[in-house]
Amino acid sequence: MPSKLAKSSSKSTTVSSLKLVKRLEALPGVGRKTANVVLNTAFRQVAMAVDTHIFRFSNRTKVAPGKNVLEVEMKLLKFVPKEFLLDAHHWMILHGRYICVARKPKCDACVIEDLCEFKDKTST
Ligand code: SF4
Repeated sequence: MPSKLAKSSSKSTTVSSLKLVKRLEALPGVGRKTANVVLNTAFRQVAMAVDTHIFRFSNRTKVAPGKNVLEVEMKLLKFVPKEFLLDAHHWMILHGRYICVARKPKCDACVIEDLCEFKDKTST
């Protein structure tokens, strides 16, 4: 049986993404990141779920530097070209998880090494 949220969201396409995020965030245990993931993956709406990987990647590269996840989220939503917004957060998570890793980023294997502004790039 679909949840109230799913019912209300499917019967009306006029519910804005912002309203949907607010409704999701009102659920127990759901924060902004989770709300954005649901909005993006389940409802295929533009949303930027900034996790630790995206936060690190955005600050290192200077693509969307910010002191907190909300600041990074807002900058990424402006920076990422419209045609890539639906899937960009998945790509950035994978990049952060496997290439731009926390301890020692794999800059030698990074396809955007020439564009990245991180001052402590690694080399082998
Ligand atoms: S060059 Fe290094 S620091 Fe920059 S994005 Fe790639 S892996 Fe991360």
